[in-house]
Amino acid sequence: MDLLDTLTAKGLLGEVPTREEALAVLATTDDELLDVVAAAGRVRRRWFGRRVKLNYLVNLKSGLCPEDCSYCSQRLGSKAEILKYTWLKPEQAADAARAGVAGGAKRVCLVASGRGPTDRDIDRVTDTMAAIKDADPEVEICVCLGLLSDNQAERLKAAGADAYNHNLNTSENTYGSITKTHTYADRVDTVQKAHGAGLSACSGLIAGMGESDEDLVDVVFALRELGSDSVPVNFLIPFEGTPLAKEWNLTPQRCLRILAMVRFVNPDTEVRIAGGREVHLRSMQPLGLHIANSIFLGDYLTSEGQAGQTDLDMIKDAGFEVEGAGEATLPRHRADIAEAVAASSCGTTASSCGTAASACGSGGGCGPCGGHAHTPAEATAAEGTEDDELRSDLVKVRRRGAGTELAPNA
Ligand code: SF4
Repeated sequence: MDLLDTLTAKGLLGEVPTREEALAVLATTDDELLDVVAAAGRVRRRWFGRRVKLNYLVNLKSGLCPEDCSYCSQRLGSKAEILKYTWLKPEQAADAARAGVAGGAKRVCLVASGRGPTDRDIDRVTDTMAAIKDADPEVEICVCLGLLSDNQAERLKAAGADAYNHNLNTSENTYGSITKTHTYADRVDTVQKAHGAGLSACSGLIAGMGESDEDLVDVVFALRELGSDSVPVNFLIPFEGTPLAKEWNLTPQRCLRILAMVRFVNPDTEVRIAGGREVHLRSMQPLGLHIANSIFLGDYLTSEGQAGQTDLDMIKDAGFEVEGAGEATLPRHRADIAEAVAASSCGTTASSCGTAASACGSGGGCGPCGGHAHTPAEATAAEGTEDDELRSDLVKVRRRGAGTELAPNA
């Protein structure tokens, strides 16, 4: 049986490929690309049909972060000319969220820059979630506030949060080269805290930071082991003014191979095309929908996405449909696992629950802000463009929506 037949057969059964098989997906040629997409598409349709889940980002607090994540436009010392503002008021955040929900988003992602929340910040987010759920009780809320201290996940769960995002971003081996102010272990700990409190774990990666194929496979298997329910796949947005501004290592073909590898390793998990979708997949975005079952609608934290209506048109034109509020995202057997973890956690109390043994998934940092670290020896082997082929014209800093007087893009 050849590679793609094997991967399809395993994926249809919900089985995970070997590490060697995952690496082989990344090594396929352009001639094989449509076959790779078709195989991943069969697995995607087995577990998620033709549904596309829409998520909507609200940046509650932008820029001015004390952490040094090299990929991030909000990092310490960033010269990127992004919007900078402190906490939005609950009504301001609820207004932005309402626009996303009206545009078809099922989940609202509340993100704030920073190392991690204070207890006062948890109070602010509690008020914001109440304002959002008052207007739309069915909306899912995912919170992304950085590293969590003891009992903060329990407080968020009790306040109505459905999920917590914390991305692992890259492999344990290379984590120290992209961030010095916190560790990979810190990130894993936060994902486990969130999962242990009964929050659905959303944790993913950033590709395009000069990492090797082995690094990508390592982080994707780590996310599977942590039990992440949702795996956002970010493609580095090389912001001017960040250390990784010249890291244009991705092609649309490379992005599709990465998405396919993530799908094969996570056959029955939500795979989301996150930041960098428009920048790197460009006209190949519809092929990405055959692999991933989830995207962000409209803009990102600090960069602008394509028009929300263009996202909706693309989904329809490609033969997919927006997932409704009443539809379950995960297949039943995955939802059962998540519910069992929630039931075994202390959930709404402030006592210490510990961590779930097989737990969830994401680690550290915030949502799809874009940026990455540079490992020169690996970058030379990376597929893609050279420094003299920069495409900074593709990066548009967000100037509308949350934190501005202009209407959100949804
Ligand atoms: S990813 Fe998050 S923690 Fe890291 S610099 Fe950006 S805002 Fe700060």
